[in-house]
Amino acid sequence: MRFDTLAIHAGQPPDPAYGAVMTPIYQTSTYAQKRIGEAEYDYARTANPTRTALQACIAALEGAKYGLAFASGMAAIDCVLRLLKPGDHVLASNDVYGGTYRILKRVYEAVGVEASFVEMSDLAAVEAALRPTTRLVWVETPTNPLLKIADIAALADVLGRRGAARPLLVVDNTFASPYLQQPLALGADLVVHSATKYLGGHSDVVNGLLALNDGELFAQLKFLQNAIGAVPAPLDCFLVLRGIKTLHVRMERHCANAQRIAEWLAAHPRVERVLYPGLPSHPQHAIACRQMRGFGGMISFVVRGGAEAARQVAERTRVFTLAESLGGVESLIEVPAAMTHLSVANSPLAVDPALIRLSVGIEDVEDLIADLDQALRY
Ligand SMILES: *Cc1c(COP(=O)(O)O)cnc(C)c1O
Repeated sequence: MRFDTLAIHAGQPPDPAYGAVMTPIYQTSTYAQKRIGEAEYDYARTANPTRTALQACIAALEGAKYGLAFASGMAAIDCVLRLLKPGDHVLASNDVYGGTYRILKRVYEAVGVEASFVEMSDLAAVEAALRPTTRLVWVETPTNPLLKIADIAALADVLGRRGAARPLLVVDNTFASPYLQQPLALGADLVVHSATKYLGGHSDVVNGLLALNDGELFAQLKFLQNAIGAVPAPLDCFLVLRGIKTLHVRMERHCANAQRIAEWLAAHPRVERVLYPGLPSHPQHAIACRQMRGFGGMISFVVRGGAEAARQVAERTRVFTLAESLGGVESLIEVPAAMTHLSVANSPLAVDPALIRLSVGIEDVEDLIADLDQALRY
C-alpha cells in the first residue's frame, strides 16, 4: 500500500474485541493470563496494544520492519545512546537539536562516551572526523534551526567504506517526517522521531519513536525499552495514531504555506537572509530536491537590526504564537538564541541572535503573510 493509505490503516485493523474502528486506549497496567505465562500481553511496560499499533504504524511509514515507541523524543534518543559503552564515540551534526547536544555533553560524556560535532554537509570533514571508536553517526536533516541538508545516501556510502568497523547511521527525521523523507531507503540504519512534532501534529502530546530493519539491533533496543521503562502512556499512543492519520494532508499544506512565506520573506527589505531548503538560493537545494518529497514547514530568517529587531518581530505577531516546539497545525514563531537554543549559547552550536525560526502551520497563508507583514513594520 502507498503512504497515504498506510498513514490511516497501518498497524490498526479493527479491534479484535468489539470491532472498534479506532484503536482503543488500552488503559491497563496488567493483563489476565489463561494459565501461567500463557498470554499475549502480560505487563504494560513491556507491551500494550495501543502502543503495538503505533509501533507497527511508524514502521510501515518509514518502510521499516520494526518500530518502537517512547515517552518522548529524548527517551527514544536515550535508548539508542544506551547501546554505547565507555570509550565509544558519537559523531553528530554541528547543529543537532539542543537536547541531543545536552544529553551527549552532560549525560553521556560523564560516563565516558565521547561526542564530537561536524558539518554533516561536508563529506570530507565527516570522513576526517571519524575515529576508530566511532559507533554512531548522528544526523539531522533538515537541521534545527539552520535548516542545513545532509546527503543521507552519500553519508551511508562514506560509512560503508569502513567495512566491519562501520558505525551505525542514525537519522533524526523529526523535521521532515516520513512523508517527506525516508532515511532507511537512503541507507540509514536507524530513524529517530520526536513524534511530539509533525507526527502528533496538534501540539497536544509528547512522544518519541524509532524505526529500523535490523533484527539483532531491534532485539537490543526492545530489551532496553523495557529495561529502562521510558514508555509512552496508552492515551499518548492514541493521540499520535490519530495525528498520523492526517500527516500526508497536513504536510502538503505545511510545505505549500512555507514555500510561499519563504519567497515572500526573501523579497522583504527588512530581511537579510532566508534559510529554507525549497529556495534555489539554499546551498543544499539540489540535495533536498533529490532526497525529499517536499521541503517542510520550517523556515529560519535573519532580520536586519540584530537581537532587538528579532525580539520585536517575534513579540508582535498575532497569528503566529510566540512559543517553542514545532510541527503543529498552528503557526509558531521563536528566537532560537533566546529560547530553544539558550542552552547552547557560548558553545559551538550558538546561533545568530537576529535569527527567527518559524514553524509554519496550516492556516490560510494570506493571514500568515499579513501577520508577518505587520510584525516587520515595527
Ligand atoms: C523536539 C525534538 C527532539 C526531542 O523530542 P521531545 O519529544 O521533545 O523529547 C529531538 N530531535 C528534534 C529534531 C526535535 O525537534
